[in-house]
Amino acid sequence: MRFTQHRPFEGVIRSATVSTTKTGKFFISILVDQDEEKWIPAENKIGIDLGLEHFAVMTNDAMVSEKVDNPRFLRKSEAKIKKAQRALSRKKIGSKNREKAKLILAKRHEKIANQRKDFLHKLSRRIVDENQVIVVETLKSKDMMKDHKVAKSIGDVSWHEFVRQLEYKSNFYRRTFIKADPWFASTQICSSCGEKGQKKAMDVREWTCTHCSVHHDREINASINLLMLAN
Ligand SMILES: [Zn+2]
Repeated sequence: MRFTQHRPFEGVIRSATVSTTKTGKFFISILVDQDEEKWIPAENKIGIDLGLEHFAVMTNDAMVSEKVDNPRFLRKSEAKIKKAQRALSRKKIGSKNREKAKLILAKRHEKIANQRKDFLHKLSRRIVDENQVIVVETLKSKDMMKDHKVAKSIGDVSWHEFVRQLEYKSNFYRRTFIKADPWFASTQICSSCGEKGQKKAMDVREWTCTHCSVHHDREINASINLLMLAN
């Protein structure tokens, strides 16, 4: 049978698992025994703030900051899913057209799941490649879930999956992975003078420290505070 191999591998094959998706695609996963990956040390340390405005805002110890946008394509795919759902609901139960509409819906779901995975894998891999110490905040999504719209975005951006990937990739490539204490006030603390200011509402994007008068971008300031936990 013909197949597409996504990644070459070395080592002894231990097992192979065949699976199918709802849309009739076949996958084979091969488990191999391999000598341990050579440790390639990376230079940098990085603090990563996860958010809604941007998917991630990161600052490394060279004080270079980067803002990673939320993937908009997920929104587009979501709109297509809704359309497919409506189409399905209009089809008669038991009809051939209903089966067709079901398959289309399953394909849309599969696509959005793949897009999300692809986005998260690429980003987490790049971070692990470039940094020896990686600090992320502990997610406080429960607070945010109270707002329904916000909760939807959180579903989109998949923070939990991202942190999970960062953690296992860090272990694999022997990086130091640090989750900040849940009570660590990365947003409230001024990264310039260390003064802990008041809580900031979610729509406050910039603020000025009342103690040292430095003006901060909310997300970059948070990522710098997280970076400081790397030391
Ligand atoms: Zn300050």
